[in-house]
Amino acid sequence: MSFNKYNQKRNFNLTLEPEGNRKQSSAELIFVVQKHAASHLHYDFRLEIGGVLKSWAIPKGPSMNPADKRLAIMVEDHPYDYKDFEGTIPEGNYGAGKVIVWDNGTYTLADEDELNKVENRLESDLQKGRLSFVLNGKKLKGEFTLVKMKTKQRNAWLLIKSTDQYANNTDILLQDKSVISNRTL
Ligand code: MN
Repeated sequence: MSFNKYNQKRNFNLTLEPEGNRKQSSAELIFVVQKHAASHLHYDFRLEIGGVLKSWAIPKGPSMNPADKRLAIMVEDHPYDYKDFEGTIPEGNYGAGKVIVWDNGTYTLADEDELNKVENRLESDLQKGRLSFVLNGKKLKGEFTLVKMKTKQRNAWLLIKSTDQYANNTDILLQDKSVISNRTL
């Protein structure tokens, strides 16, 4: 894995987004969801796996309702430092528009607790196209599954909330503030 794709799309003299470098958490794996007002508003869902942030763009955003299956388009790996990126990507640059950190926190696999085993499982589950994990965010909590769709569009996945004590049908997206700055888009 490398950040070629990520770096090629961006001019770091013009955007404040971080340059691609491998880094990772020492104790717990992290996730972040960024709300991004690019040409189309979407939410970027990112999971730390193997020193990078695996990333999916979710047009309708995540849902706490197990009945909702939210389309999640896998995009290029983002660097670990992207977890803190909030601000404006200038006009004329890739992804131009405003970004806030809509949610962040840590995550685990329900049935593994050793970090090295977890990393191996995550990599193989990702390959298999089915990944279940438990989020401990400020907004998103409990178990979710990402499932790769069997369609011609190779990057199409679905993000689905599992039925657990955190599942509900209130609209989590109404909580629209940044979890690091309290700003809205
Ligand atoms: Mn985006």
